[in-house]
Amino acid sequence: MIDRINFLKDEINKHNYLYYVEDNPSISDYEYDKLFAELKMLEMKYPELRTADSPTQRVGSISEKFLPYKHKYRLYSLDNTYNYEDLVVWYEKLSQNFKDNVELVCELKIDGLAIALTYEKGLFTTGVTRGDGVTGENITTNLKTVKAIPLKLFEDVDVEVRGEIYMPKSSFEKLNEESRLKGEKLFANPRNAAAGSIRQLDSTITAQRDLSIFVYNSSFENIENPPETHYDSMMYLKKLGFRVNPNIRLCKNIEEAIEYCKEWDTKRFELDYATDGVVIKVNKLTYQEELGYTARAPKWATAFKFPPEEATTKLLDIELNVGKTGAVTPVAILNPVNLAGSKVARASLHNFDEVKRLDIRVGDDVVIKKAAEIIPKVIKVVESENHYNLPVYEIPKTCPACDSRLETRPDEVNLYCSNPECPSLLKSKLEFWVSSDAMDIDKIGPGIIEQLFEKGIVRTPVDLYKLKKEDFFKLDNVKEKSASNMYMSIQNSKKQPLSRFLTALTIKHVGKETAEIIANEFKTLDRLYHADSFELVEIPGIGLKTAIEIREFFNKPKNIELMEEFKSLGVNPVQEVTRISDVLKGKTLVLTGTLKNMTRDEAQELIKSMGGKPSSSVSKNTSYVIAGENPGSKLDKAQNLGVIILTEEEFLEMIKSNSQI
Ligand code: NAD
Repeated sequence: MIDRINFLKDEINKHNYLYYVEDNPSISDYEYDKLFAELKMLEMKYPELRTADSPTQRVGSISEKFLPYKHKYRLYSLDNTYNYEDLVVWYEKLSQNFKDNVELVCELKIDGLAIALTYEKGLFTTGVTRGDGVTGENITTNLKTVKAIPLKLFEDVDVEVRGEIYMPKSSFEKLNEESRLKGEKLFANPRNAAAGSIRQLDSTITAQRDLSIFVYNSSFENIENPPETHYDSMMYLKKLGFRVNPNIRLCKNIEEAIEYCKEWDTKRFELDYATDGVVIKVNKLTYQEELGYTARAPKWATAFKFPPEEATTKLLDIELNVGKTGAVTPVAILNPVNLAGSKVARASLHNFDEVKRLDIRVGDDVVIKKAAEIIPKVIKVVESENHYNLPVYEIPKTCPACDSRLETRPDEVNLYCSNPECPSLLKSKLEFWVSSDAMDIDKIGPGIIEQLFEKGIVRTPVDLYKLKKEDFFKLDNVKEKSASNMYMSIQNSKKQPLSRFLTALTIKHVGKETAEIIANEFKTLDRLYHADSFELVEIPGIGLKTAIEIREFFNKPKNIELMEEFKSLGVNPVQEVTRISDVLKGKTLVLTGTLKNMTRDEAQELIKSMGGKPSSSVSKNTSYVIAGENPGSKLDKAQNLGVIILTEEEFLEMIKSNSQI
């Protein structure tokens, strides 16, 4: 049992990091909630296995990007359920504490990012993310760019309000469309777009994003006649100038609340903002106080979550896509259908094993589901007589782009095009090269790549660096200014660090993170391609398979020539960090809390310059945790794991004396 509990904890922590810190979840909320509910259930059954660092005892997570800020009032999460019976049980249990009937308030659960805003004498002073509930990230400057947040209230009150920052669905679609054209990374859903936009280090980018807010909670100080119910406090917030969601409703009992949930389960698609459920709250504030909180959530509120969004439609065709590694993957072409508020005409089928497993046939009715990924996936075939009259899908033997033979590779489910010169493969590689994950040539998107390739101007990434400004005039509708911009953005990419160059080469097993580790170790391209596999495997985090792939890549005569060609064109990337000493070599350090003598970025640079590796999360592999003022949950975790904890002064002393503690 302990293995399952540990597995669930690790999985949930991993997904928390992707969701809260990276704004880039890899599973759907429904799948996440299932893991969470299982862990909660097991911990209830075996309370002796519940530890203080369990995700069930915590709220969210905090990143290192912004200055930490300790909340005056703790911010909580919400317990949730996907079924109405649980709501009845919750209501009956809490009602036992009171003689009177317990009134409830229903509100839409806005799917965005929780923040707390502080006003002193009616003026906006500080805005902070929820973070881990105790400490959040100070994002005041960014929040000031959100027009729906009042900078001055209609009354001179001292108040802290909590609310949800969100991006309207229409603005999310527009932003993703613009990013798609530029070949940039897309946001998975409006929630991630809102979280990613409000947590930008450059507030001018936040200002360009269409963000808004609904507030849902408040704590007043020093006011005469404070509101006695949640509903009244919301009406008061509206009077002060805040945006309160208009669909708030007072309900006499749980039956009325369930009616509200049923009503909004269908009506939500008409809204231009995403809602993932309904929050049901006890109305009377004295009752709320009496009911109190668990470690993670109030007992006086709960969330009913809408079931995962699915739709049924006809499979019109199976298209084949050739990726940057040559993998050929099937994509479902669908009769367009509305799903979660947007029209869906394509869905992922993952690989041919999945097509076989589902026995999916062109002409079938299929169920699609929107998960965390941008493209929805086909989850099942609707059973029907007709299915058996349709021809069984034949797994292709040749590449859809160049007709070459498709081949399998050991330990892989994908099929690969065997032709290294396959035009689709070359185009995918070019698209990846310019993308924001690789060399970030932001003025060249997939449309331009298509033209450069089809007109025979560019075949491989190295050709991009041979282009002259005039070459861009051969493309459709390109004038002086855009030709200049495209040319310059290629030239600027020559300064990209070695880690990006290495990612862009698409060597097997070398993704973004691995590339960063290797580049930090070798610093220059020259040193890297002279490194032998022993030197590579010695780097913590680099396995034998990866080392062999890298060595084989740089051993190939055509790649040696290619690297020389890149160098002759001025692409000779380095990884810049001036190393002052090696005192922290091989050590991983985690920062928590506010440092007095330096910013977080400065501390991280200092660690790197001493040969250490800064990391955002504490594990048993962490060498030191440096705790500043108001440290967060990382300190507890470090204590639990027995990791050495240093004060800022001890850390500076260690660096000054050039010896480890
Ligand atoms: P939550 O989103 O389920 O509920 C709590 C939050 O609801 C509050 O903090 C608040 O921000 C928000 N909220 C919106 N409208 C509200 C209203 N009217 N009144 C009160 N609160 C309102 O909980 P959470 O702790 O933010 O996140 C946990 C959830 O996030 C999970 O249940 C899951 O759905 C999702 N998640 C997904 C992944 C993933 O990998 N897909 C990872 C982590 C979390």
